[in-house]
Amino acid sequence: MDFNLTGIPNEPAEQGGAPLKVLIIGSGPAGWSAALYAARADLAPLVLTGMELGGQVSLTHTIENYPGFPDGVGGSELTGLFQKQAERFGARVEFDSAVEADLSARPFRIKTYSTEYLTDSLVITTGATPRHLGIPGEIELTGRGVSYCATCDGWFFKEKDLVVVGGGDSALEEGLFLTRYANSVTIVHRRDALRAGAILQNRALNHPKVKFIWNSVVEEITGSEKVNSLRLKNLVSGESWEHPTDGIFIFIGHTPNTQIFDGQLKLDGQGYIEVDRLMHTSVPGVYAAGEAADPHFRQVITSAGMGAAAAMQAIHFLENQ
Ligand code: NAP
Repeated sequence: MDFNLTGIPNEPAEQGGAPLKVLIIGSGPAGWSAALYAARADLAPLVLTGMELGGQVSLTHTIENYPGFPDGVGGSELTGLFQKQAERFGARVEFDSAVEADLSARPFRIKTYSTEYLTDSLVITTGATPRHLGIPGEIELTGRGVSYCATCDGWFFKEKDLVVVGGGDSALEEGLFLTRYANSVTIVHRRDALRAGAILQNRALNHPKVKFIWNSVVEEITGSEKVNSLRLKNLVSGESWEHPTDGIFIFIGHTPNTQIFDGQLKLDGQGYIEVDRLMHTSVPGVYAAGEAADPHFRQVITSAGMGAAAAMQAIHFLENQ
């Protein structure tokens, strides 16, 4: 029998026992909020953490726009608090990932790396994964100067010269974070206007260590043991040149982690799960929340709100069965 972190044996749903009432896939803000609400309704939800406990937020150094923390809060600290609060009311957690889903009949069937769960309702909060540039050298040099996480890897680049790709909030926020370690951070953006919010723009544009290369893209990453140069191209003039660098951090958006639901739930053209304003997916009893279903807001606060709403709908659904 499997045991969860608190040492309580898991519901033996995977062994032919009663199905779970609520299974939550994903452990970011949406997942923990759903778990909190479902737990407080005495439904003993089970949270499958996925590969990244706490989701992407747990890799964020400081969150300054989550209400209740006037001085900001660390990403992993915040998700740790979410988890603690959900567990206090009976949510259970498994360090496992869903690899297959059968939503054609209830109870729904979710296969993980280690077992299979049956559940009467499902809340999907699988989040999204950083997008890749898809250029030569990117995969080969990942972990050797190519990174998608400043909080994870910034420390390795003390007094180095770095490049950040992207013009959104992530690129600027993470780029500013990297200035703690690096000598310089050059932000390469494909347009001449940033997508990021005004506060981050002002901070980055006025930071002595931050430089910008506008209207340009990275075409190749080169280096043998580690990154030592990029080939950049100016999209307006067509000019290409070599730009020496010690590392490149890529923040060009995300792809939703919804592949296992393809063909079972209605997804939009980008792969986000389509939900109505009550977090209903195209299958009754299945709800989705957070970045897997939200290409628009993608904030901790909005994901948490969606997770709570999804759990409330799951509770209603189970009451009406
Ligand atoms: P984003 O807003 O989608 O920005 C992606 C950036 O990457 C854009 O500037 C885009 O350029 C650029 N880009 C996309 N594909 C590219 C490619 N193939 N080559 C070069 N550049 C490319 O993504 P994000 O910054 O990860 O933010 C996602 C969401 O999270 C947003 O809603 C954001 O507000 C939110 N967020 C908020 C905070 C905060 O509030 N503190 C922090 C992080 C993220 P274009 O501008 O030309 O499209």
